[in-house]
Amino acid sequence: MSFHVRRKDREITDCEELRQVLKSTKYVTVALCNQDEPYLVSLSHGYDDANNCLYFHCAPEGKKLEFLKANSRVWGQALLDFGVTEECDYAYTSVHFSGKMSLVEDLVEKQHAVEVLVRQVSLNPEAKLAKIKLEKLEKTTMGRIDVDYMSGKKHQSPKPTLHKMLLH
Ligand SMILES: Cc1cc2nc3c(=O)[nH]c(=O)nc-3n(C[C@H](O)[C@H](O)[C@H](O)COP(=O)(O)OP(=O)(O)OC[C@H]3O[C@@H](n4cnc5c(N)ncnc54)[C@H](O)[C@@H]3O)c2cc1C
Repeated sequence: MSFHVRRKDREITDCEELRQVLKSTKYVTVALCNQDEPYLVSLSHGYDDANNCLYFHCAPEGKKLEFLKANSRVWGQALLDFGVTEECDYAYTSVHFSGKMSLVEDLVEKQHAVEVLVRQVSLNPEAKLAKIKLEKLEKTTMGRIDVDYMSGKKHQSPKPTLHKMLLH
């Protein structure tokens, strides 16, 4: 069965606008599924525009990695939350995506992944990146989600300037 954003007036169709949400948010919430059991985690992420993938880091073990081993298909959401409006409505921009989650094993890709991640989530990325040692990175678990579908919905971003600011 195929679904689409029901409210066409709220749908985001511009691919660049969808990607911009993944580029400007600090974390995504990702749903996993093992047989008929659902599970969900939030992950700080960096979005790699050129490869249309998200990078994250995590502990080397835990429930999400057990779920990943069983089923690498994921569904996720990135959210820009503008809160309650004057009209008592809720203002947000969100992007849903689906994709395949995997672990990054190659050290060169790990270096790239950590750069993408730190540049997106940190205020002072270059100083933080300069402190990361290769030996430590080698032992760090890094993951990747290759995005194969995106949809977007925008509901009453309160002030166009604020919306623009958050997206850039
Ligand atoms: C904004 C945000 C950003 C985050 N960024 C990252 C990140 O970049 N990398 C990362 O690895 N984790 C991140 N986390 C934490 C993440 O959501 C998980 O809690 C964490 O990854 C542990 O997952 P796990 O499956 O290994 O849990 P495990 O340690 O194996 O725990 C399993 C059980 O613990 C409970 N549990 C696990 N996590 C939570 C939780 N957050 N709240 C309540 N109960 C929980 C559940 O009941 C679950 O069944 C972030 C969380 C938030 C809110």
